Amino acid sequence: MSFVLHGVGVSGGIAIGHAHLASHAALEVAHHILPRNKVSNEISRLDAAFTAVRKELETLHTAVISGHASAEFGAFLDLHRMILDDPTLCSAAKIYISQNLCNAEWAVSQQADVLLAQFEEIEDTYLRERKTDVIQVVERVLKALLGHPGYIPPPVKSAGDSILVAHDLSPADVIQYKQYRFTAFLTDLGGSTSHTAIVARSLNIPSIVALHNARQLIHDNDLLIVDGNQGVVIVSPDKHVFAAYRLRQNQLEVEKQKLKRIKTKVATTLDGTTVELHANIELPQDVEQVKENGGTGIGLFRSEFLFLNRDDLPDEDEQFEAYCTVAKKMRGLPVTIRTFDLGADKNLDSDKRVAANPALGLRAIRLSLAEPKMFHTQLRSILRASYYGQVRILVPMLSSVSEISQTLRLIERAKESLQDERIPFDADIQIGGMIEVPAAALCLDIFMHQLDFLSIGTNDLIQYTLAIDRTDDAVAHLYDPLHPAVLRLVAHIIRSANHVEVPVEVCGEIAGDTSFTRLLLGFGLRHFSMLPTQLLTVKRQVLRSHLPDSIHFAEKILKSDSQENTRTLLTKLNS
Ligand code: PEP
Ligand code: MG
Repeated sequence: MSFVLHGVGVSGGIAIGHAHLASHAALEVAHHILPRNKVSNEISRLDAAFTAVRKELETLHTAVISGHASAEFGAFLDLHRMILDDPTLCSAAKIYISQNLCNAEWAVSQQADVLLAQFEEIEDTYLRERKTDVIQVVERVLKALLGHPGYIPPPVKSAGDSILVAHDLSPADVIQYKQYRFTAFLTDLGGSTSHTAIVARSLNIPSIVALHNARQLIHDNDLLIVDGNQGVVIVSPDKHVFAAYRLRQNQLEVEKQKLKRIKTKVATTLDGTTVELHANIELPQDVEQVKENGGTGIGLFRSEFLFLNRDDLPDEDEQFEAYCTVAKKMRGLPVTIRTFDLGADKNLDSDKRVAANPALGLRAIRLSLAEPKMFHTQLRSILRASYYGQVRILVPMLSSVSEISQTLRLIERAKESLQDERIPFDADIQIGGMIEVPAAALCLDIFMHQLDFLSIGTNDLIQYTLAIDRTDDAVAHLYDPLHPAVLRLVAHIIRSANHVEVPVEVCGEIAGDTSFTRLLLGFGLRHFSMLPTQLLTVKRQVLRSHLPDSIHFAEKILKSDSQENTRTLLTKLNS
């Protein structure tokens, strides 16, 4: 039977393919067949893992008894202990190993699915929701089996025309999938500017988030049409719908090929104003895409992706290699390396205590200043790379001036250490700050004194201005870049920076959204940074824009007294 699901389209285009259902990321494990003589050994591994988890839970329980943890936490541990002792999990997993001659991880994950299906049948909502606890217990067992804390799901071998359907994907999961050729991504959770969505978008394939129950309603191998522009998934389409979408898909492909013709054109408006179109990247290999799409620099290298999906930290040489590769490949064009923006939804260690409000916690520059050794290593490697190109340092999530002073001191220290060792670097390296917290936007004059350039992170600026978690699908509909508070802040930052001639760029998602190009031009923006795949469509929009019109409408939009009126004005500006 054919049916349609609606979500939030985060990457445009049309994909037609077959569903590939991802298990809960944390429970996805490799499957090995064992020789019969290894079975008893595997069962002992499983026993040892269960014993280790039992011990972990006992240790945690001691904290409750000694008054260091709450009674609620005690009840939660009791529940985990009960799940751990459930025969469906441990005893049945042992039988599964003997009967199927498989590895312990696989047996546990299979039994977890059985247990989760039993929970699914429960009518009582409270008990049904305890599925999360089952997942947490199974994760503990898998970690014990694998002998390391930060468990990474194994990659899929070959994706073909597959469309990945997952309940949720972390940015780290998506970056792993970068090397496999899925034709589209669908998730139940997530907001349009979550890092997961951004990475999915960078893969240049249609992606839809916030589908709520796609993972449940879609079955493995179902034929799907994904319309990333409309945020629509058609499951098992009839032949007429299928033919119509195939035709649209072909038309889009022709348009894409045509766009390549403007690759080497300079991005100049009809009345002769030239703008810079830079790219946002996550990994050094993304530079190829930047070049293919005519990017004139890297406006944002999200360096934290070098730190994900691994148990150790990248050392100075490894980081230097990555930054230097990008600097050399960009041949003198600007390469803006953002110091690691870890924390919130991009964590090093999944075992670490998760803050109650991670987006408001020890994230980005706050984490860097709290981990000076790790920060020093990164600063040294960026500085070393600066000798090989036009490298710039960008500091994320500034909210107080003291963070700038501390960062500048640490950069000086890193420079001195390189000087002592006679290692070359660019002594005049430019240092910029991301304006993505309203506090920074509101006292920009104080911030600008100490910085060489600014970059507006609208994804976070919207999140923090409107108090809307950008990763939470429940409030995704409230996440509105056209909210007057957001527009006024963005215009204020651009105008204030232009006034004192401090270069300013927008590197949030709106920079790559053509419906915002003219508005941003009208605010005075001349530097945009976006996903490599958005460069050509934004360039086409710039080439068709007339600056005086943009300025006129931008002024009206800033004075608009309703969001509806703002939308009407924006449509007029873009028509
Ligand atoms: C932003 O917040 O707009 C930004 C570009 O940074 P990130 O999306 O990585 O938080
Ligand atoms: Mg940000």
